[in-house]
Amino acid sequence: QPTALSGLPAGVGEALEAEGVADLYPPQEAAVEAGVLDGESLVAAVPTASGKTLIAELAMLSAIERGGKALYIVPLRALASEKKAEFERWEEHGVTVGVSTGNYDSDGEWLATRDVIVATSEKVDSLIRNGAPWIDDLTCVVSDEVHLVDDASRGPTLEVTLAKLRKVNSGLQTVALSATVGNADVIAEWLDAELVESEWRPIDLRVGVHFGNAIDFDDGSKREVPVDRGEEQTARLVADALDTEEDGQGGSSLVFVNSRRNAESSARKLADVTGPRLTGDERDRLRELAEEIRGVSDTDTSEDLAGAVESGSAFHHAGLAADHRSLIEDAFRDRLIKCVSATPTLAAGVNTPARRVVVRDWRRYDGEFGGMKPLDVLEVHQMCGRAGRPGLDPYGEAVLLASDADTKEELFDRYVWADAEPVRSKLAAEPALRTHVLATVASGFASTRGGLLEFLDNTLYATQTDDAGRLAAVTDSVLEYLAVNGFLERDREGGSESLSATGIGHTVSRLYLDPMSAATMIDGLRNACAAAEADEGAATGKYERSIADAADAAGAADDGEEPGFGTYSRVGGSDGGSGGTDAGDDDAAGDSGTDITPLGLYHLVSRTPDMYELYLKSGDRETYTEVCYERETEFLGDVPSEYEDVRFEDWLAALKTARLLEDWADEVDEDRIAERYGVGPGDIRGKVDTAEWLLRAAETLAADVDGVDGDAVLAVRRARKRVEYGVREQLLDLAGVRNVGRKRARRLYEAGVETRSDLRDAEKAVVLGALRGRERTAERILEHAGREDPSMDGIDADRSASAAAT
Ligand code: ADP
Repeated sequence: QPTALSGLPAGVGEALEAEGVADLYPPQEAAVEAGVLDGESLVAAVPTASGKTLIAELAMLSAIERGGKALYIVPLRALASEKKAEFERWEEHGVTVGVSTGNYDSDGEWLATRDVIVATSEKVDSLIRNGAPWIDDLTCVVSDEVHLVDDASRGPTLEVTLAKLRKVNSGLQTVALSATVGNADVIAEWLDAELVESEWRPIDLRVGVHFGNAIDFDDGSKREVPVDRGEEQTARLVADALDTEEDGQGGSSLVFVNSRRNAESSARKLADVTGPRLTGDERDRLRELAEEIRGVSDTDTSEDLAGAVESGSAFHHAGLAADHRSLIEDAFRDRLIKCVSATPTLAAGVNTPARRVVVRDWRRYDGEFGGMKPLDVLEVHQMCGRAGRPGLDPYGEAVLLASDADTKEELFDRYVWADAEPVRSKLAAEPALRTHVLATVASGFASTRGGLLEFLDNTLYATQTDDAGRLAAVTDSVLEYLAVNGFLERDREGGSESLSATGIGHTVSRLYLDPMSAATMIDGLRNACAAAEADEGAATGKYERSIADAADAAGAADDGEEPGFGTYSRVGGSDGGSGGTDAGDDDAAGDSGTDITPLGLYHLVSRTPDMYELYLKSGDRETYTEVCYERETEFLGDVPSEYEDVRFEDWLAALKTARLLEDWADEVDEDRIAERYGVGPGDIRGKVDTAEWLLRAAETLAADVDGVDGDAVLAVRRARKRVEYGVREQLLDLAGVRNVGRKRARRLYEAGVETRSDLRDAEKAVVLGALRGRERTAERILEHAGREDPSMDGIDADRSASAAAT
């Protein structure tokens, strides 16, 4: 009963009732009984879609009503905006909401005015490192999908972040939302929280295995789904759900597969199932949606997706552009798309229920494992949990596929009857601790070795382990690493050892870099500068002149915040009417006074642990070994020998990644890049963003350490700008104008509009022609370039097109 909901901001109770939340779900009721409205800490381990978000909202809203401030931590960026949009409905009751995304090096001061802040754990970690002033004011923190503390790469961050937040504010209410895992009690013990654990779901879920001509469900029931000769099980199951009407509607399906490629091919195949079952109206609306999808980007992935969507089928994976993902999710929720083939990313978090879930692949290739590895029980349970839409479906059905009787038995044992694994902290691994030990010392959470170990005692790792020596041992080897690399100073006096971060250590922590990435980049740049200096002795007069030029430019660059790129073109030598469109000749190497090339820098950042490298596929070893020798002089640091198998392999994987970035900065078409490296547009974006961030960090570090000169800093900045805009040297100035971008910059350049200042003086018809007659775009661009009168009124697009062509 809403009457039980006291202590909320005025109007919230009524609003909830209006939303149809007249009665609390049983787990929600249990949470209220456990004191979630009174500031009690709580772990809620309940199945997907059983109303965990409302538990969090009750905690946050009551905390705010008491004058406090709440933080909601999500595991994925995509979820941050989804949750923010969800919480914004409280704004009419006076609750303000802010989402913190973007760079990892700001302190997000503006968030101080918000009642609810939504952010990823990485973002919160970086806000703490950068001294966000409002962290001290938090009274309630929610950790969504807390079972992800188990994740080797991201779990430790969540763990340490929660420990820090709880240390800053001892009375902090901690609400952790978890899937049903094997050891929710341990999480509750770690967080000193009450535990609400339940298997309750708002809608019945049957889980079964399809084999032969029927699905056997866990409740003992059976459903005949005969598969004809030559037909695929998945297709038959999707068709069966669509042909079974409830409330006058067939049921949609979610098909989980184990790779992006499989998601795409599955969507193509299932289009043959969904297509013939569409109404004329649906077909029209899907055609419109397909156009929208094509409008997002001009790539093969976009075209493939649009093609499947026209038939009511879609794929969903992490390689998709964010806009594509949300279009698909919305249309699936609206029942317009009938079937989505997805990788497991969709199972985590995003709210996209379907009547039927088909877990087509229960094994996935795992390089470390050396073959196909069965999925975790938790993962499969989360996929199954997506079945059944409350209020729409009478029940949800999750179906695993078996091709023989033995597999059927195995699937029942392994997944249907099994409990999810317990979560285990992954904190005591060197890469995780390296980062977190430095940050913990740098942001003042510990100033001695003893204090550091005491702090680490507040983590899940410490709660779980009975081998306290292990954490201390790893911590010591990490302290050694950080000291050797000049990030920490250790002072052993008497019995205690004091710790302090060096200047560069502070910088590394604030930049949110893995210390090993920082060390790699500093070493690489120092190496290159030392080599350049050795060369300089032997330099010719011409060479010296260009060094003087570059130093001049570096000086100019230091004055302003963001120097104009006229500076760079002077250094790069693309002035003096090079005229032609072939930018290949403005190779930065020889002219800038160092031998540092963009490829060298892209390789340097690609071999840091902060860059997720591309895999080497068959044949790649040969290809990139060849590239490695051809471009040997460009690498910053020594090439490992071919006999050092693992190191050499890593080097080549980084080289493949670097070549992708170089192609991007050479204006190679997105589609060509996707094809050449076997990636999706979302991946290209991801690599580009990471490279941009790392190069920005490298620039800051370079300015802070000895042995890296101004030329190197300049080379880093130039390489960063090129990857940021995806353009060659000569377009840097133009591409820096808002709304221009790499393709438009190239077309403008070819029409003779070569710089930002050209944009201010150019004939409007020429600009309009280069922008393919798009008046609004042209006006906006001229405005951003600083033109007084950007209006295109009366400029003839046809005439201008032919003007541009001549
Ligand atoms: P979870 O976070 O556990 O996966 P959600 O919080 O997204 O699940 O809840 C799933 C759906 O149930 C949401 O659409 C939500 O509005 C609805 N819901 C939550 N609590 C109630 C309730 N007490 N009564 C009716 N609907 C509810």
